Amino acid sequence: MGLLSLGTPLSWPDTKPLAEHVREHGITQFLHLWEQIKDRRGDGLLWGDEIEYIVVSFDDEQADARLSLRQAEILKVLAESHADAANKLPGDAAAGGHVPTFHPEYGRFMLESTPGAPYGVTPRDLRTVEANMRLRRRIARSHLLPHELPVTLTSFPRLGVTDRPFTDPPLEANGSASRSLFLPDEVINPHARFPTLTANIRQRRGAKVAINMPIFHDELTPRPFVDPSIPWDRQLFPEDKEARAGAALPDHIYMDAMGFGMGCCCLQVTFQACSVQEARTVYDQLVPVGPLLLALTAASPAYRGYLANVDCRWNVISAAVDDRTREERGLEPLKESRMLMQKSRYDSVDSYISQDPANRPEYNDNPLPVDEKVKTRLEKAGIDPLLATHLAHLFIRDPLVIFSEMVDLDDHQSMDHFENIQSTNWQTMRFKPPPPGGQIGWRVEFRSMEVQVTDFENAAFSIFIVLLTRAILSFHLNFYMPISKVDVNMKRAHIRDAVNTQKFYFRKEVFRSKPRHHARDSSVSGRGGRGTPRGSRAPSPNRGATSSANGAAASNGVKSPFPRTSTSSRAASPEPTPVEEEYDEFTLNELMNGKDGSFPGLITLVYNYLDSLTMDVETRCELGIYLDLVSKRASGELITAATWIRNFVRTHPEYKKDSVVSAKVNYDMIKQLNAIERGEVDAPGFLPKGFAQRRKAQKDA
Ligand code: ADP
Ligand code: MG
Ligand code: MG
Ligand code: MG
Ligand code: MG
Ligand code: MG
Repeated sequence: MGLLSLGTPLSWPDTKPLAEHVREHGITQFLHLWEQIKDRRGDGLLWGDEIEYIVVSFDDEQADARLSLRQAEILKVLAESHADAANKLPGDAAAGGHVPTFHPEYGRFMLESTPGAPYGVTPRDLRTVEANMRLRRRIARSHLLPHELPVTLTSFPRLGVTDRPFTDPPLEANGSASRSLFLPDEVINPHARFPTLTANIRQRRGAKVAINMPIFHDELTPRPFVDPSIPWDRQLFPEDKEARAGAALPDHIYMDAMGFGMGCCCLQVTFQACSVQEARTVYDQLVPVGPLLLALTAASPAYRGYLANVDCRWNVISAAVDDRTREERGLEPLKESRMLMQKSRYDSVDSYISQDPANRPEYNDNPLPVDEKVKTRLEKAGIDPLLATHLAHLFIRDPLVIFSEMVDLDDHQSMDHFENIQSTNWQTMRFKPPPPGGQIGWRVEFRSMEVQVTDFENAAFSIFIVLLTRAILSFHLNFYMPISKVDVNMKRAHIRDAVNTQKFYFRKEVFRSKPRHHARDSSVSGRGGRGTPRGSRAPSPNRGATSSANGAAASNGVKSPFPRTSTSSRAASPEPTPVEEEYDEFTLNELMNGKDGSFPGLITLVYNYLDSLTMDVETRCELGIYLDLVSKRASGELITAATWIRNFVRTHPEYKKDSVVSAKVNYDMIKQLNAIERGEVDAPGFLPKGFAQRRKAQKDA
């Protein structure tokens, strides 16, 4: 959750003239902060996840599952119970830090939870993650009404249907913030910030947002598909005619409000780095990993009552907050608007930011519009061009919500104007500076993942990404490739069953051939598993090349656990390898589990990192269970949640082969997912063998 300042939010006409003020003071605030924090180092290895839930209200008589809109009441009782629980904790923990916390989200049917305090990264710490997530789910569940349930479903398949009410209580779509044909404003968190955000995005854009996801054409889905559920001829708002005027595409599921995107649930992980340099390294190296993890966690194949031909939410959210004018989108010549903007403010990262020499300028090959004034100011203040460009790119955007009480601020004390722009740039990664004067250091947030049905899976993907980060730093891995190829991967990740049908670009040689010339970045060598990785133990037969015996020496005395491949000799030669020869296309199985002799596999790298640590057998086994899930999702041995949901719908006796997710199908599906989550039934082919038994043994079913 970004900041939730209280006050009077300004309408768009009053916000627009203050945009330059916010940008200017935002940068002043950043520069003041920068002076205090640029040399900050030595922060510990901490991390934490965020899990978002949809609160479903079951109507067993009608066999319907609707969205509960009791967020405010639920959060209130959760906060009271948090205070109670915190008071009962002994000693240090009494500050409440160790009791999980719940946060509001955009959707009034949503909750977000985080661990009460960030986790460490030792194997022992990692073993507590799943239990912490389950505890949070249990707390949430115990504060709901008997017919309500918090579910970790990325998209609610019937959000915005028009055949019958999808909210509890039933409401009409007639609100002036969204002006949606489908979503009542009451689905938006009523805190002034959110309806204003919604209305201001619409007004800035000059039209409602237009989200079109391709329909999944099943046997009996009409071709072309012209959606009969759209109230095409409504005349309540002037925007009502947009659907007919071309905003709603044939053969697509049309959605017209911010809530369709911000109503999706994700799984985010934030890492603290020991220094700004390390944060920049982690940020860059995780950029190419984002689309891979989006494809692996794919969990959202249905929108507004229909099956889509995509498996992921990302593009839905991207379009749902796309505030660009027609000029900014390149549909009309620039007159009023400042510049062409190739992407929505919710989109993939556009530039690498590390000063690592491995970050070749050729990799930043995306169009990168910047606010020139911001860039010049930052560079004059001594900020290097990579960081200055990153910030000046974020600052092409206008602030969306300004509170009238918060216009003139003390730029030495406040970061509000900076955060206003920063926190409404929703990219695949977020680079988070330390809050002023606090205990928290430089952080990097990994934001592409879809939330998973069970906490076992949420823990598995979180732990995987944490360990991968450790491996990246310990082995000085190099995942750089042109950022435009990362964007190609982002598109491919959405495609139905991408795990089994798509290839993804990735760097072929992930080990560095030369010692790093990064004298001042002591961060990497001093941290993480610094031991030489031992020979790998090839934990599973498809885990690719794993012998370290002849691994060439990598930098800083850490031995590369893998033999050099043919490309490496070229990389070591004085002529730099042409960028196009550095990457190739791989299946997700190859990328995660390894490809004979030519690519180690990210999971293998994680295992090699684990080999460099000391831990007891039991811990090693437990961590192996999580990594195995990720490995099997990548190999296709286990299906994604998206495939599970699609299969469930398509094989339901009531399904008419017409792409429609009816109320009954949706109800049965969510009941079934709940039974799976509790370990009441097995889910062969989706979760590992023995999942239900393991889950039941956890006593909190
Ligand atoms: P946002 O919504 O702004 O992305 P949240 O505060 O909801 O952020 O969640 C941030 C996550 O970062 C939580 O899981 C929290 O435990 C974790 N976290 C908090 N402090 C630190 C820290 N110093 N280092 C790393 N992670 C942290
Ligand atoms: Mg959130
Ligand atoms: Mg949050
Ligand atoms: Mg947030
Ligand atoms: Mg209404
Ligand atoms: Mg977050």
